Amino acid sequence: MIEQAKQVLQSYFGYPSFRPGQESIIENILQGYDTLAIMPTGGGKSLCYQIPALIFEGITIVISPLISLMKDQVDTLLGVGISATYINSSISMQEIQERLQDARAGRYKIIYIAPERLESSQFRSLLSSIPISMIAVDEAHCISQWGHDFRPSYRNIHDMIAELPSKPVVSALTATATVEVKEDICSQLQIDPYAVFITGFARDNLTFNVLKGENKRDFVKSFLLENKNQSGIVYAATRREVNELHSFLEREGFSVGKYHAGLSDEERKQAQEDFLFDTVNVMVATNAFGMGIDKSNVRYVIHYNLPKNIEAYYQEAGRAGRDGEKSDCYLLFASQDIQLQKFLIEQSTVDEVKKEQEYHKLQQMIDYCHTEKCLQSYILEYFGEKESVECGRCVNCKDDREKIDVTTEALMVFSCIKRMKERYGKTLVAQVLKGSRNKKIQDFGFTSLSTYGLLKQYSEKQIVGLIDFLAAEGYVKLTNSQYPVLILDAKALPVLKGEIKIFKKEQVKKKQVVTDNTLFEILREVRKSISTRDGVPPYIVFSDSTLREMSEVAPVDEKELLEIKGVAQMKLERYGEDFLTAIRDYVEEKSTAN
Ligand code: ADP
Repeated sequence: MIEQAKQVLQSYFGYPSFRPGQESIIENILQGYDTLAIMPTGGGKSLCYQIPALIFEGITIVISPLISLMKDQVDTLLGVGISATYINSSISMQEIQERLQDARAGRYKIIYIAPERLESSQFRSLLSSIPISMIAVDEAHCISQWGHDFRPSYRNIHDMIAELPSKPVVSALTATATVEVKEDICSQLQIDPYAVFITGFARDNLTFNVLKGENKRDFVKSFLLENKNQSGIVYAATRREVNELHSFLEREGFSVGKYHAGLSDEERKQAQEDFLFDTVNVMVATNAFGMGIDKSNVRYVIHYNLPKNIEAYYQEAGRAGRDGEKSDCYLLFASQDIQLQKFLIEQSTVDEVKKEQEYHKLQQMIDYCHTEKCLQSYILEYFGEKESVECGRCVNCKDDREKIDVTTEALMVFSCIKRMKERYGKTLVAQVLKGSRNKKIQDFGFTSLSTYGLLKQYSEKQIVGLIDFLAAEGYVKLTNSQYPVLILDAKALPVLKGEIKIFKKEQVKKKQVVTDNTLFEILREVRKSISTRDGVPPYIVFSDSTLREMSEVAPVDEKELLEIKGVAQMKLERYGEDFLTAIRDYVEEKSTAN
């Protein structure tokens, strides 16, 4: 059966081989086992259910949370010659009936539906009348209250499956699943733990960077100047921040779009389309933008503010480089942003236990910004991967400055925390170590502590930086609350006993993400004009990685073009000639020039 799957991969999608994990997931599904696939963003989850869907007899229903994502997926499928449609609130009841009628007549292999549809028992019974072979649950973490995108209507999936006349295969897919979320998905969809496939979360084409102390506007401006032709997203934490940054970049002459929940449906739709169609290169947005974005050629994601947790961060940053091409992720850290996230936690209506959990996750996010370990490894370990290898690309791996022994300073910090009875936050601890004369320090009588003024040669900011670093490395801990208190961790013990030493480095700068060659740019233009002509987003015509390979190989006939990854029969027929003409012209011009 897997041979058949490989044929489908080649003939419809034009790919010669499976990506890591895809083969075993598809094999398991084809054998009829309910399956949970946890794969990083861009790992190729869609094919894991689309290929079995084509091989199974009946119809596959894909439950997907966002309408925009659905349309995109359906367009992609139609583009490679697979019959698909979608059912969501954007179409009328009559159209729903018609599409189901067409389904009964065998006109579709894949139907995307919004989870909200399942709330209607009438709709569920309509589903019972079509032959369903598989239910694919996309963004499966939405089923879990532990996840960060919980959608109550996902809870109806189980009932819907139970009501169907014969049980379909269930496949669930997600990119973000902590242990709790994974267990929750399995128990709700009754997936055997043996049928859970976790492919490495590592994104080998992404380079992670945390930058501190930057003037954020200047950074974004100069970054956009250096990467003018590239698509990218800048995430900011609030609508206001999005509006302000957007106006600033527009004034500076950049073509930028904006997206947040305060805009009208129409404005958001337009902004999204402009970005998808490469009419604007940069999207400034809140986290409302993204779950439905399947744009594969996003070359960078900049976080203008601190996200609330690592799950959210990795999902957002992971929207860069879905096509497998090298892409960059920047997080611009400023400690003021922590207050905003705390404010949001305080404002939320969740119970105290959940709040504490949110604070804990926020602290892990802050630690990410202060760690000197490999950033990719930090994220992988967060998701439970043990012994991850250093990526060799991130800002920390590339930071080759000498490490300084800070054991003595660290011991002073530990001692001060102890002497302050582990009851105060990092600012106060830093002020005591600095020897500050402020009123609070005097009132509390901290001037008489033996650790008072021990680090007076450093600025208060540097001492806070050292404490943040010690927290990120796990020697000290900040309690999970709005006003976290510094306490020592057991990891500090061997340092106190003189068994280990602590080393620390400082921070670095930016670079250009991609240097393009001429043919690649020409091919991008061809793609853009096809996109305008046919009304499909450019990346649906061909992905950046396909164009890049084309520009490197420069195929001049159909046979050679078919060898390029991402080019299959259907696309060859539709677009082959446009690209071949451009390549031939280019090759000819070059040879006469030489
Ligand atoms: P995600 O896991 O984020 O849903 P997608 O399914 O959107 O990822 O896939 C990301 C990109 O990788 C798409 O452009 C897709 O066509 C491409 N892709 C998927 N599988 C393969 C493969 N086996 N070989 C080459 N490219 C692939």
